[in-house]
Amino acid sequence: MERLLDNKFSVEDVHEESLRPKMLEEYIGQQKVKEKIKIFIEAAKKRKEPLDHVLLYGPPGLGKTTLANIIANEMGVDIKVTSGPAIERAGDLVAILTNIGENNILFIDEIHRLNRTIEEVLYPAMEDKKVDIVIGKGPSAKTIRLTLPPFTLIGATTRAGLLSSPLRDRFGIIERLDYYTVEELSQIVMRSASILKCDIEKEACIEIAKRSRGTPRVANRLLRRLRDYAMVKHTGSITYEVAKSGLEMFEVDEYGLDLVDRNILEAIVYKFGGGPVGLSTIAAAIGEDEGTIEDIYEPYLIQEGFLVKTARGRVATQKAISHIAKIKFKLKES
Ligand code: ADP
Repeated sequence: MERLLDNKFSVEDVHEESLRPKMLEEYIGQQKVKEKIKIFIEAAKKRKEPLDHVLLYGPPGLGKTTLANIIANEMGVDIKVTSGPAIERAGDLVAILTNIGENNILFIDEIHRLNRTIEEVLYPAMEDKKVDIVIGKGPSAKTIRLTLPPFTLIGATTRAGLLSSPLRDRFGIIERLDYYTVEELSQIVMRSASILKCDIEKEACIEIAKRSRGTPRVANRLLRRLRDYAMVKHTGSITYEVAKSGLEMFEVDEYGLDLVDRNILEAIVYKFGGGPVGLSTIAAAIGEDEGTIEDIYEPYLIQEGFLVKTARGRVATQKAISHIAKIKFKLKES
């Protein structure tokens, strides 16, 4: 089942395109990154040169693809978009590189997933604007070195640590995107609502923002779901009350935790005395896959201080214990 709070791109996010800011001015938050990028763009434009190669890293849904497109718009150049897993052979990458127009941008999403032999094509391309093409096969094969027009590579990754150092070292600009504050997310929700022509109260924007796990993609998804809810169950406007009751129906609580997050915490607190308990035991107790818990649920629970990872297993924090107790109490009351 698709998860409402997943920060990764899913089929229901196809409408994201219309919500993407086009210029730096509309890009909310990430103040420091924005300031630097603005200066680099201005300098490159003054010199009439392409921007230095850019590496953007940070968790999914924080605006890496959006920023790459904005850089292209601000530079006034074309952007070609591809991703690490989509480039299967070195020849595919050579074909892409030899087709990039002068000063244009090549955006490679999930660049850490490029296979090493393909990655090696990028080194001379990024450094000296050269690519080697092998013509023919066997003993008569010949290598021809082609010169590429100047271009900018923008790489995006959720796992900067997985990037090989020769590749990382070839990026002149390396920027990390951080989780957004409630205030910033609430501005993003307000902006998206106006694009979607959806009437929304400021307090409702704040409520959505609080439950969006610091991630614009999640905020926009909750907004779209609440828009449907408001239309069917109410008059169409998202008031504070509508937002609260809708989010309750979707089982997204005030910390942005969903049912599975709460099941994990509840199992540790009530079944295993607060921990430490091994991942496989938790997985068996709640009927979830071990890898899914580790990759999808656990990082946010750790980041928000609900869970700690120790050498002997997972331990629920006081914050988790209080939160779960409060929910149990509420359920008993209702
Ligand atoms: P990533 O590439 O990091 O996974 P995206 O760039 O695809 O994330 O962003 C997901 C969605 O979140 C975009 O469609 C965009 O509408 C929204 N978004 C991301 N960052 C911002 C921002 N700074 N301001 C406004 N909207 C944003």
